[in-house]
Amino acid sequence: MTTDFPRLTTIFDRTDDPDRIRAEIRDFLDQAPKPPGLRDYGPTPTANDVEPGRAWHRHLAENGLTCLHWPKEYGGADASVVGQAIFAEEAARAGVPRQLGITAIDLVGPVLLAFGTPEQKEAHLESIRTGDHIWCQLFSEPGAGSDLAGIRTTVEQRDDGRWVVSGQKVWSSAAASADYGILLARTGPDKHKGLSAFIVPMNADGVTVRPLVQLDGESKFNEVFLDDVVLDAHAIIGEPGQGWAVAMVTLGRERLTLGSQAVSMFRLHEKLVETATARGSMDPVLARSLTTLWARLWLLRYTWQRAIESGDLTSPTFSVLKLMTSEAERDLGDLATDVLGTDACIDPAEDPLVHAMLVGRAQTILGGTSEIQRNILGERVLGLPKEPR
Ligand SMILES: Cc1cc2nc3c(=O)[nH]c(=O)nc-3n(C[C@H](O)[C@H](O)[C@H](O)COP(=O)(O)OP(=O)(O)OC[C@H]3O[C@@H](n4cnc5c(N)ncnc54)[C@H](O)[C@@H]3O)c2cc1C
Repeated sequence: MTTDFPRLTTIFDRTDDPDRIRAEIRDFLDQAPKPPGLRDYGPTPTANDVEPGRAWHRHLAENGLTCLHWPKEYGGADASVVGQAIFAEEAARAGVPRQLGITAIDLVGPVLLAFGTPEQKEAHLESIRTGDHIWCQLFSEPGAGSDLAGIRTTVEQRDDGRWVVSGQKVWSSAAASADYGILLARTGPDKHKGLSAFIVPMNADGVTVRPLVQLDGESKFNEVFLDDVVLDAHAIIGEPGQGWAVAMVTLGRERLTLGSQAVSMFRLHEKLVETATARGSMDPVLARSLTTLWARLWLLRYTWQRAIESGDLTSPTFSVLKLMTSEAERDLGDLATDVLGTDACIDPAEDPLVHAMLVGRAQTILGGTSEIQRNILGERVLGLPKEPR
């Protein structure tokens, strides 16, 4: 693959000087022209965010600031986890998305790099890097979320080598805008070894996407129906039966990206304090709650820093981090009701605090629920007896 290396890619090589990396990135983000309509929409763009988000992503890509964790030969920056975290923090500070969407670069890219054929890498990595193609993750089903290995969508291979998919997926973020989906489906009866991963063109015959409307009025989720969808023989990622290993790569990266939310939580905390003070609702009870949460954010910030400095992405620290981040963000959002009182019932589009309060509910569910993180910590870290199954 041939890629020109733009000017900022090499700043991540200065691993001994994180302050310099931060200063250069901050400077770049401050000066970069922002497309009209661009906002920090989080990990997934809505349909209205796609155009400004894509223009912004292209500008980042032209300057070597997308796919930071990918190898340089594929247009990445081979950036350390610290370098990636600095970029994510500075993007949050500047109030801009760090890329068009999370799924293609953070989840699909590492999967194709680890399991993809040379043809799959050639066909997809560059269009992911430049933001030309949006991807969605087709894993969860109505009867399988926490128990992901319980999925029922089936894929059968025909005599001509092609695959036929039948089933239903749900909570598929960005599916309505996506060009491709990474699908986890059942190719055999064994709970884990019977799973395989595939690339699904979202415009294939038999793929139906139905958007779902969330609490905050936005529509990022979708239901996806797969009715006898015929896939090319080369659509499988890795070998039949390697689906669980593929899924684990995506879930590990998902947890890692959550830690970068700490900066936006500090911004939300500042906004809560400002609003409570301006509205005269800062009584001792609210002040105490805000102070406790402020301390929790700092604890989170330092736990995150320690985890990324260790550089071990498989560390159980990331399960602690996921749990702490999700619950702090939910609790921060909930404080909006104490600050706003009955005004918390207004349209979330009119007040970012109301929006944060509603979106905060998703944090303890996405990327593995808090109950599941506690199970992981109890069983795999503390060595407690396994839950009865
Ligand atoms: C914002 C957001 C974006 C998402 N995006 C995607 C996406 O793009 N693609 C995708 O495939 N999925 C996506 N999901 C789905 C997400 O992965 C699932 O919602 C999550 O894994 C939980 O599964 P579930 O909703 O089926 O809940 P369930 O697994 O049915 O859980 C229901 C409740 O039971 C609890 N529970 C379940 N099992 C146990 C247990 N063993 N011990 C204790 N408690 C338990 C859970 O903690 C939860 O409280 C997204 C979810 C959210 C909120």
